[in-house]
Amino acid sequence: MEKKWKIETAAVQGGYAPGNSEPRVLPIYQSTTYKYDTCEEVAKLFDLEAAGHMYTRISNPTVEALEKKMAMLEGGIGAMATSSGQAATMIAVMTICTAGDHLLAASTLYGGSFSLLKTTLKKFGIDVTFVDPELSLEELKTYIKPNTKGVFAETIGNPGLNILDFEKFSTLAHDNVVPLIVDNTFPTPYLCRPIEHGADIVTHSCTKYTDGHATSVGGMIIDSGKFNWANGKFPEMTTPDESYHGVVYVRDFKEAAYITKARVQLLRDVGAAMSPFNAFLMNLGLETLPLRMERHSQNALAVAKWLEGNDKISWVVYPGLESHPTHDLAKKYLPDGCSGVLTFGVKGGTEAGEKLIDNLNLIALVVHVADARSCVLHPASTTHRQLSEEEQIASGVKPDLIRFSVGLENIDDIIDDLANALEQI
Ligand SMILES: *Cc1c(COP(=O)(O)O)cnc(C)c1O
Repeated sequence: MEKKWKIETAAVQGGYAPGNSEPRVLPIYQSTTYKYDTCEEVAKLFDLEAAGHMYTRISNPTVEALEKKMAMLEGGIGAMATSSGQAATMIAVMTICTAGDHLLAASTLYGGSFSLLKTTLKKFGIDVTFVDPELSLEELKTYIKPNTKGVFAETIGNPGLNILDFEKFSTLAHDNVVPLIVDNTFPTPYLCRPIEHGADIVTHSCTKYTDGHATSVGGMIIDSGKFNWANGKFPEMTTPDESYHGVVYVRDFKEAAYITKARVQLLRDVGAAMSPFNAFLMNLGLETLPLRMERHSQNALAVAKWLEGNDKISWVVYPGLESHPTHDLAKKYLPDGCSGVLTFGVKGGTEAGEKLIDNLNLIALVVHVADARSCVLHPASTTHRQLSEEEQIASGVKPDLIRFSVGLENIDDIIDDLANALEQI
């Protein structure tokens, strides 16, 4: 029955269905552990022969409800929450890549993902090639190697705001029988559902619009259940896992092989679990996701148009603007809105931009995006600071770029604050 719900209904009621006289609202199960009557039952849990919670590092009822809701929203068969978006990216990749493997990734990724893939995964022997996502399919194919195990990209690049050409990227991945992993943080499943466009695995930083109120850090991995892991390229999926008495993921968990391995192997060993309290807050946030994303998108488009018409602004990038290079892709994949983040530059460059930021009042300077309160950031001196200037340009960060996360305040007040700050330059 739940499967047929429209997205607004799933956002409010998905994932948790109380029985008679049970709490109407998802409870916080603030417990590390679970009680069992017999040793035999616990043994079965450890052998993965029975379903159930054994320890909160691996699963927890509050976290599980959030996972079920996210899987429902994204159209996946299962999901796994993590302690952060970074942990979601790392586990998403490490579930299929091991030392000696290769991954192809868009160069326009969020700075944190870029450094994780470039530096930390390299230390584990996983080699990542970053490619310009605007290259043609033929050009992209030349970067695929025999040991390539996946293709990774974002629906909306952060902060370049380029829209992913799903058709091109899913063809690239599937012609080479590897999965397409898509970070869907910025659009959220309300504006875009990557699985419907060929993605096999979806990741999120739930810290952003999922929570939506800037209260908690968290992440999520969603499994489409559609990828054929038994195609010969993923021996860890089809051969016995000695750490689980010879469990064979594809044989024993069928279409849930990937998400099961992510949990019982990587989450168990790495320990990057989401806390039940954060899952409670994320779930509360999701209840209003459709309303929030609609308004974030409306407000951002209005701000983008206003900035485009202001003569102190040198450029504006927002996928909802006709001037945007991937506007056609935005219309195709994000027909209901392009989310709340835009970028712009002020005439007078970095110095004028910094002045603008200092003069803002309602709109705060914070190291965050994608919550209810409008905020700005200068990525070149903050989030992308560790990248070289060349890498910054490749990831879409111009030196004068100001990233603006448009909140849920009244649009008149947001524009007043901008106008006032611009006047003082
Ligand atoms: C913030 C962000 C991340 C990292 O998430 P954290 O929750 O901060 O670890 C990953 N991808 C994108 C697109 C992000 O914006």
